[in-house]
Amino acid sequence: MKPALIVHGGAWKIAPETHAAHLRGTRAAAEAGWNILGAGGSALDAVEMAVSVMEDDPTFDAGVGSVLNCVGDIELDAIIMDGRTLALGAVAAVRNIPNPVRLARVIMEDTYHTLLVGDGARRFAEQKGMRLCAQAELTVPREVERYRRLQEIPNYHPADEFTPNPMDTVGAVAIDASGNVAAATSTGGVHFKLPGRVGDSPLVGSGAYADNETGAASTTGHGENIMRVVLSKTATDALAHGMDVQAAADYAIAYLHRRVGGYGGIIVVDRAGNTAFAYNTPHMAVAWTDAQGAIHAQIMR
Ligand code: ASP
Repeated sequence: MKPALIVHGGAWKIAPETHAAHLRGTRAAAEAGWNILGAGGSALDAVEMAVSVMEDDPTFDAGVGSVLNCVGDIELDAIIMDGRTLALGAVAAVRNIPNPVRLARVIMEDTYHTLLVGDGARRFAEQKGMRLCAQAELTVPREVERYRRLQEIPNYHPADEFTPNPMDTVGAVAIDASGNVAAATSTGGVHFKLPGRVGDSPLVGSGAYADNETGAASTTGHGENIMRVVLSKTATDALAHGMDVQAAADYAIAYLHRRVGGYGGIIVVDRAGNTAFAYNTPHMAVAWTDAQGAIHAQIMR
């Protein structure tokens, strides 16, 4: 079967001066994932690679460049899921980890757990000999400035609708030549969040889901609402009920809005290798491969 891949670099109001960087970053991620798939590699390796490329890119709210919480710190969430077996690994509210998606993969493969949080997750990474970093290495001046601005706003709340503060979570879904699907998502969460806050991204079925029997999905947007409707699983369930991939993505986003007034975006791949995305935010950054293997990157609006 022909492999396919789609990645996202967040959905919200993406500031015009950052559109070029979002296009470059999502394209680079799709290329990196596609290089693996095109060489016969697995969907799991492809989504891990695509997401880690965006974690390394300070444009996005994941890994380097993540948003600061209300005490000026960074805590990261990520998940990876294998559609062959429904195996998954996730990490939440972790510090000092440049590539949380890679840690999620190690949790999936080397433990009998699915989700590690905070200090325990960091210690596990250390035990595994993974590279840890200073928090300063994840922190970019753009986010320090944003944090200072937000500190000045009385009673600031991160869910304020379409504030010019990005939701640049990253994610990828793919299907490989063997018909296996996988999904991965990584984020610094929402700016000015409470310490210890965990969003939808590392929660199975919310931030991502992958099942060879249906397909795979990854989400972005306001996590507190996304988790209420288990958005990724809502989309893959829609595939199970016979919707085509675009209808399933549209249905999930419509349901998010109808049930909880939520805003966000989703990428989906079905088990036949069709991809789609849907969003109800002003923008969404996406890149995908077409049937010829060409990569398209767009800021949807
Ligand atoms: N969903 C993420 C969260 O709430 C934010 C985002 O998608 O940008 O943590």
